[in-house]
Amino acid sequence: MVDEKHCPTCRQLHLFRKVTPAEEAHIAGRVGLAKARGFWRCTNPGCRWVQPYHVQSQGFRLPEETFG
Ligand SMILES: [Zn+2]
Repeated sequence: MVDEKHCPTCRQLHLFRKVTPAEEAHIAGRVGLAKARGFWRCTNPGCRWVQPYHVQSQGFRLPEETFG
């Protein structure tokens, strides 16, 4: 399941996918599990941007050492 969204790191439209369980666990440590379930990640290689599906302003970058 993917969807095209604007990525603020890539500065253009890219395909996003739902986060994996490992990504979701990391995000949950930051925003809580209930919110983490709604996060999507940019699929552009090297990009670690994640965000709630509709709320780019609540997004952030996953740490490179774990998710790069
Ligand atoms: Zn991106």
